[in-house]
Amino acid sequence: MRTELNNNATLLLKDGNVAHVNNIIGSGGQGFVYSVTVDGEEYALKWYKQNPGNVFYENLQKNAEDGAPSSSFLWPKAVTKVRYGSFGYIMPLKPEGYYEFSQYRLAKVRFSSFRAILNAAIELCEAFRLLHAKGLSFQDLNDGGFFIHPDTGHLLICDCDNVFPHGESSGVLGKARYIAPEIVLGKNMPNSYSDRFSMTVILFMLFCIDHPFEGMNVVRYPCMTEEIERRLFGEQLCFMYDDADTRNRPVRGIHSNAITMWNLLPDVLKDSFKLEFAKAKLDAPETRMTEMQWIDVFTGIRDSLVECPLCGDESFFRRIGVVCINRNCRGTSTAEMWMETESRSIPLFNNNILRMGKSDAVTGRVALKPGGNNILLVQNLTTHDWRVITPSNKSVTVAPRGFFPVKDGMKVELTDNESTITYTITH
Ligand SMILES: [Zn+2]
Repeated sequence: MRTELNNNATLLLKDGNVAHVNNIIGSGGQGFVYSVTVDGEEYALKWYKQNPGNVFYENLQKNAEDGAPSSSFLWPKAVTKVRYGSFGYIMPLKPEGYYEFSQYRLAKVRFSSFRAILNAAIELCEAFRLLHAKGLSFQDLNDGGFFIHPDTGHLLICDCDNVFPHGESSGVLGKARYIAPEIVLGKNMPNSYSDRFSMTVILFMLFCIDHPFEGMNVVRYPCMTEEIERRLFGEQLCFMYDDADTRNRPVRGIHSNAITMWNLLPDVLKDSFKLEFAKAKLDAPETRMTEMQWIDVFTGIRDSLVECPLCGDESFFRRIGVVCINRNCRGTSTAEMWMETESRSIPLFNNNILRMGKSDAVTGRVALKPGGNNILLVQNLTTHDWRVITPSNKSVTVAPRGFFPVKDGMKVELTDNESTITYTITH
């Protein structure tokens, strides 16, 4: 079997196109990655060292035909015909400016803001929500499987070749330390519930950089064997911040990222991780939080994220107000008014930038009415009209760039991707 491809080799694709091999751009355990040109466009080609077999081939071919669940996946675009005893598939190339998550772990790249981390977290959950909604499971999510833009948090998930229908196995069990305990213990095959476990591990790591289950328990074993790994990531799995079991706490000097970042996280997020990684939940895969529940948590936190008017640093706003986390600033802000829906709560104070839609796009800003009286104005920074209903039930249109004065009991309707979101202003 010939495993490596020559430059200038040509491969026939199942969709009828031809891929011209340019050069090798990477290699891993399973295969080589080449830059190829198809119909004048450049793509990446993953070529398997060992033919993974017919079932794998047909599944890959079906996934390529069905298309990506969302644009966050570097999804197979077409499969090659079998050649030299093996095959491969082409996928979009990773654009510039994205870094593998392992680079963040090594502190070679850093997120530019909490907002970027929150965006990455929301995008990961949304990608998995759409994948699972199609009846598929990823089966192999780990710290090497995706790229993130450090400024926007935009995320690209690669290695999508182990995606199989829920309940069917790709034959790959996933990467050790990212696999759900029920898979480690051989109780289940990978499915969307075990995906949720791996996803939550990655979510924790996005914020804390360190691994949620690698605290003191792992430090105790400088020489990790398969048997110890099975125990620590299987039957004795213990979250480093477990309330009931403190034996696996992060170690100062080794897990400094976790210690620093955990202290900065809002309580709602800490509580979600604690609940999700508590022993009872670890043992009951079907009770794990859904992607949508995570999205609600992260959206709520993103709504509370404000930039200090004095220094520009980010802090999480709470009902009692906010004290800037920058030690040289310590500026304080409080909000007397809020913009709320059933699930969201956005503070209104002078200079706050508003993102009221489903995405992270700026939709408005708060200003102080010139001439005193502390009246807050909200400016419409979208390209659509807003409808504002006053407490006395008068309907007013606020055009793009226009302002309205904030009053308790007012309702504000904005249209976001065809759907309308109604906020109520409260004190
Ligand atoms: Zn500040």
